Amino acid sequence: MLYYSTNKKTSPVSLHDAVVRGLASDKGLFMPEVIRRFPPAFYQNMKEMTLREISFVVAEAFFGEDVEADKLKDIVYDALNFDIPLVQVADNRYCLELFHGPTMAFKDVGARFMARLLAYFNRQETRQVNVLVATSGDTGSAVANGFLDVPGVKVFVLYPQGKVSEIQEKQFTTLGHNITALEVSGTFDDCQALVKSAFMDPELNEKLYLTSANSINVARFLPQTFYYFYAYAQLCGMVEHPEQVVFSVPSGNFGNLTAGLIAKRMGLPVKRFIAANNRNDVFLQYLRTGVYTPRPSIATIANAMDVGDPSNFARILDLYGHSHEAICADISGISYTDDEIRRTLHDTFHREKYLLDPHGACGYQALIDGLQPGETGICLGTASPAKFLDTVSGAVGETIAMPEKLRNFMQGEKQSILMPVGFNAFKHFLLNQQ
Ligand SMILES: *Cc1c(COP(=O)(O)O)cnc(C)c1O
Repeated sequence: MLYYSTNKKTSPVSLHDAVVRGLASDKGLFMPEVIRRFPPAFYQNMKEMTLREISFVVAEAFFGEDVEADKLKDIVYDALNFDIPLVQVADNRYCLELFHGPTMAFKDVGARFMARLLAYFNRQETRQVNVLVATSGDTGSAVANGFLDVPGVKVFVLYPQGKVSEIQEKQFTTLGHNITALEVSGTFDDCQALVKSAFMDPELNEKLYLTSANSINVARFLPQTFYYFYAYAQLCGMVEHPEQVVFSVPSGNFGNLTAGLIAKRMGLPVKRFIAANNRNDVFLQYLRTGVYTPRPSIATIANAMDVGDPSNFARILDLYGHSHEAICADISGISYTDDEIRRTLHDTFHREKYLLDPHGACGYQALIDGLQPGETGICLGTASPAKFLDTVSGAVGETIAMPEKLRNFMQGEKQSILMPVGFNAFKHFLLNQQ
């Protein structure tokens, strides 16, 4: 299948090229040319299927023409080596726990899939592949862990100094091997700009084999459709009218939400979506006014959502033919301050005996505030509360223990390279890596 650019100023490319390039040459984001619809029988049988089985069917719809079935099955089954349970929190409110993978955040799904797909594509490549990834926290750990020791691949993680939690930082600065952490003296947007500039730089691209692992990459983005189907399959066994489902998605770069929109386009019966934001709410302002005005991000306690110019906005516009009206028909928005997030963490823990993380709390509060009668809400639990121990413990008023998986990371020693925000230093650094 071919992948076209949302800017439509360049020709569509193969899956291989879309994955390796990350961003189209006209700076647009890649989209699949065909979004297949599944027959109704798929939805009827889904209740009996496992996460891996459902994901393989969905993966074939996108990647089946480009990857042999048995290879694709291996990639899917190997990537999804953990469960994604749907947990009932209160009456009509559920949480899809996406955080049972190695780094305890939903990005494990896309990152693990992409690492394996890239390794498959590179089985005959002799040059070293350099994966560049900007992170506001969880992307870096998911990508670094997903790619750890993948042969022929080197990963450079760019993260904003002092703006990620200690646990997040440890998860990508302690790995060593083929993983290098670059500590940028700026914001997440600065990190993202450095990565984008690198892909646009002719000299770098001539001398090095560069690829991105940000949420813009189709190999990370499209696998995020899998679990919307699996959530629906689980819901079928729990409620009478699963088609009344509303997905509430804690959003930053909007890759997760956009994957949900694509799942809906494939025929998944979803009533509507809620984009839940922290105070970085340019998307909400767009829904309200029809005007999109990016602005610098501000730091919040849900820091993986501190994004001032969400990259996947271009895909949403493309998917809906740039119609503000059509977008508003499928998606509503809401935003929360840090104090409101803390209150949700506290109240949900004490009233509903469920521990959220600061990101999930935005999504969950959006269900409390936004569900209409007859609707069933699923909040995407994007990270484990254990990744934000200080914030969560402080908000609920109790000490939360750190799970063993994270304690293991904390024992490693941080290794990073300091990097200024200017592009020249970064370019120079990369050129010296070979
Ligand atoms: C990355 C991340 C988000 C935002 O996801 P997008 O796909 O960028 O919108 C939300 N919550 C957590 C915990 C994350 O790591």
